Amino acid sequence: MRVKLPDELLEACRQAIGYAKESERYLEKDGDLHPLVGAVILDKRGRKLSSKGARRQDGCNHAEVVAINSLAAGDRARAHTVVTTLEPCCYRNDPEEICCCKRIVRLGVEQVLIGTLDPASSVRGRGAQILQMRKVYFTMFPADLQEEAGHVNKSYIDFESELYGSGRRLHLSSGIVRDDMEFNLDYGPTRVLRYITSSSFWTQMNRVISDFRNRGIVDLEFEKFFAIRAACPGSEFASVMETGGSTIFESLASYLAIPLASSKDEIATERQLIYQRLGEWWYTNRLKHRAALRRRLLAA
Ligand SMILES: [Zn+2]
Repeated sequence: MRVKLPDELLEACRQAIGYAKESERYLEKDGDLHPLVGAVILDKRGRKLSSKGARRQDGCNHAEVVAINSLAAGDRARAHTVVTTLEPCCYRNDPEEICCCKRIVRLGVEQVLIGTLDPASSVRGRGAQILQMRKVYFTMFPADLQEEAGHVNKSYIDFESELYGSGRRLHLSSGIVRDDMEFNLDYGPTRVLRYITSSSFWTQMNRVISDFRNRGIVDLEFEKFFAIRAACPGSEFASVMETGGSTIFESLASYLAIPLASSKDEIATERQLIYQRLGEWWYTNRLKHRAALRRRLLAA
């Protein structure tokens, strides 16, 4: 007996395959082979939300990102299932970009349905693994639809499989393909690196640590002390990190793949968690020469 998906989810898989086919007309004509991908986002009851995506439908993004970006503000919190025809990516060449897996986790969904795994050397199951690391349930399309999704990308899958088999590898940033480095801030987006290696951030952090020591708090780790302070609305950190449209805070949260909180209590925990990781990073690096650290991280 086979595992059977409910009709609403089966329908969403078929729709995603339809968007994948549609994406052919948006693809870049650069001579490279790109995958055709479609994505749909559903609510808890399997109803389609205000979002669907074909790769590059908006001119640049992956299908999952197009779908996430097209969610109406009110639908974001209702997002429950992401259906995508190809395993979400876990690596982007552009250090400013955050991979689809982390974006999906950050969206706060419960589950992901995947059409086919991505045989490219930069993915090969690591996309699914990130979902697993962040406790987002995932499963594959049922066999027939899996086959259909694979068929849509036959040339891409054959090409990448052959490339992998030949032993040739795409040049990947060091560290990022190791699972234990997945959420390591040293490989974070450039704008986050710029901020956390800036002299103003270090000056503020030095103030926090002297305050921490002066208070002689023994039952609290520095990163928790920092997080409590930074997560206060209007704190000196929040005013830099959380101001503006696309914020440094949001980049950091997406990179760390911290699920988006919905209730007020969860939001407080989520913010503390994110700031805590920042405090941790600084604490481990505080004795290094900042300018040299900055040069090394920003050149990576
Ligand atoms: Zn992607």
